[in-house]
Amino acid sequence: MKILVCVSVVPDTTTKITFTDGNTQFNKTGVQFIINPYDELALTRALDITEPIGGTVTVITVGEADTEPVIRKALAMGATDAIRVDANPSDGMYVAAQIAEQAKSGEYDMILTGRESIDYNGGQVQGLIAEMLNWPLINVAMELDVTDKKVTAVRDIDGGRETISVNTPVVVSAQKDLCEPRIPNMRGIMMARSKPLNVVSAEDKYNYTSVNKYDLPPAKSGVKMIDAANAEELIDLLHNTEKLF
Ligand SMILES: Cc1cc2nc3c(=O)[nH]c(=O)nc-3n(C[C@H](O)[C@H](O)[C@H](O)COP(=O)(O)OP(=O)(O)OC[C@H]3O[C@@H](n4cnc5c(N)ncnc54)[C@H](O)[C@@H]3O)c2cc1C
Repeated sequence: MKILVCVSVVPDTTTKITFTDGNTQFNKTGVQFIINPYDELALTRALDITEPIGGTVTVITVGEADTEPVIRKALAMGATDAIRVDANPSDGMYVAAQIAEQAKSGEYDMILTGRESIDYNGGQVQGLIAEMLNWPLINVAMELDVTDKKVTAVRDIDGGRETISVNTPVVVSAQKDLCEPRIPNMRGIMMARSKPLNVVSAEDKYNYTSVNKYDLPPAKSGVKMIDAANAEELIDLLHNTEKLF
């Protein structure tokens, strides 16, 4: 089985967000980057599926050279090899188109993504890849199994769960209950240094959008302490100032 896992390199969740160039660029200075947490799950499940039955797991990132330390972490987790499409991606459409271009020549049985990236939260790359390749999509899978060429996944739906089977090739996006993410061990870290990380050029024809500006959310107001014995003041604040009831 050949699996392609899409890995988005995102700021650590504790990052203090700032912008440059008149609020049009995210300021990467001093930011710690990590594998998008949903992509860690996708990668872990891909490894769990291929290890008993044989196969390869290739990770792909659309990003600049500064994403390579994070790609090496994906290799340390156990991926066979990696592709970096050399670009500064502008939106999900651009990312999906680059990945679809690479997938066309890869003869993959399955493409795994996260359900969304935790930076721009588009939740769109998986659907766009599936459409571009004319493959089925199972979105937001919380269980995923493969038997021969058949993929079975379980999804949460309103008031219950849905179990779906499709034949490969298929795109599947990972939801948080899929598995526990693997932590690279020392052997994996050592081996990752010599695994292939192939850098390929991007197709630039998919650059459709540009950012006008970013705005930070308004600063939160401070905490107002109310004496526990003074319930009337609390009720007055909630009713007349905050108008919660
Ligand atoms: C307004 C805007 C500005 C941006 N500016 C920059 C920038 O300055 N520099 C920059 O590097 N990126 C930038 N990006 C790209 C961004 O980091 C994402 O790679 C891209 O937009 C997809 O994000 P999304 O939220 O649509 O992904 P989603 O659709 O939420 O992602 C779903 C899944 O797709 C896969 N995926 C998403 N992105 C990638 C990727 N890049 N490579 C491989 N797999 C991926 C992952 O598996 C992910 O879990 C920008 C995006 C937007 C919308």
